[in-house]
Amino acid sequence: MGAFKDAACGWQPGGQGWENVSPYRRCPICEGRSYCQVARDGLTVLCKRIGNGARPKVNRDGVDFYTHHLGGRPWTPSPEAPAPTTARASVDDCDRAYRAALASLRLDDCDRGALRARGLDDGAIDANGYRSLGITGRSRIARRVVDAVGEHVLPGVPGLAWNTGDNDRGWWTFKGSTGLLIPVRDLAGRIVALKVRRRDVEPGQQRYLYVTSARTGGPSAASVVHVPRVALELRHRPLVITEGELKADVSTALCDRPVVSLPGVGAWRMALDVVDAWGAPEVAVAFDADARSNRNVARALVCLVDALRASGRRVSTWRWDGPAKGLDDYLSAKRRGETNHAG
Ligand SMILES: [Zn+2]
Repeated sequence: MGAFKDAACGWQPGGQGWENVSPYRRCPICEGRSYCQVARDGLTVLCKRIGNGARPKVNRDGVDFYTHHLGGRPWTPSPEAPAPTTARASVDDCDRAYRAALASLRLDDCDRGALRARGLDDGAIDANGYRSLGITGRSRIARRVVDAVGEHVLPGVPGLAWNTGDNDRGWWTFKGSTGLLIPVRDLAGRIVALKVRRRDVEPGQQRYLYVTSARTGGPSAASVVHVPRVALELRHRPLVITEGELKADVSTALCDRPVVSLPGVGAWRMALDVVDAWGAPEVAVAFDADARSNRNVARALVCLVDALRASGRRVSTWRWDGPAKGLDDYLSAKRRGETNHAG
């Protein structure tokens, strides 16, 4: 429903030329919330319902439509804002929305260089789907998401938000700090959230932030155990649990074992479900080196190891000497021959 497939009128699925009407941008001819389409320049409308006596054309699905030319009066979408909600869209809808957002962006050379320096090759960088998020072009990203999933889905997707300008005209935009966009994936490979590694942080500020709508009254990002895409191909090997998505991606590539990550050590209970679903008989826990000095990290480590042992798993903890803080730092130093032991 809703898509005119008549090649003669120039409509292309997902094309740049036409925009579907929606509850927030109703048809200027019939006020309909769906089905009609308006050219991107706002001057031509394909209305399904009102013809003003004109003969209808018929699209490939056998549905009548009427072409209206608005003359010099381009369509001004209704500024009606979506009803505020904090309810998150389904995981499948978020996955489709985030894939569309990522498809509209690229990874710049600077970010690619930094990922290579961490030890990822171009194959892994491309498979993991990183992108560079700049300041400009945010409404263009949102438009691609609208085209992919439909406008009704957007209020539930963390990071897609409705903006209102001075003249009360509204538009969809894409939130998030500038920096490297990191897809957060679940065990089924779906992108359930996006995290940004911020380019510029002041001392005391967080380096990694979710893309969320929480600050504008919308849904917050889903906090989940991240399963790197490549890790799914290594399911026969013993599972490793660390903290931090990028760390997990890099460590998976460097140690050739599936390394999944907690969103934070305090969320250690989340690992239990993933270990169960994975069916892993053997698990290693590799928290940052500060597990020995930071009491919260140390406590989370003990709790997680105890719970895994109680569920009948063989559990080891990885510790390393030297200046490396995280597992990825240690593996990277090891690859360069700068260190030799982990215990
Ligand atoms: Zn209409």
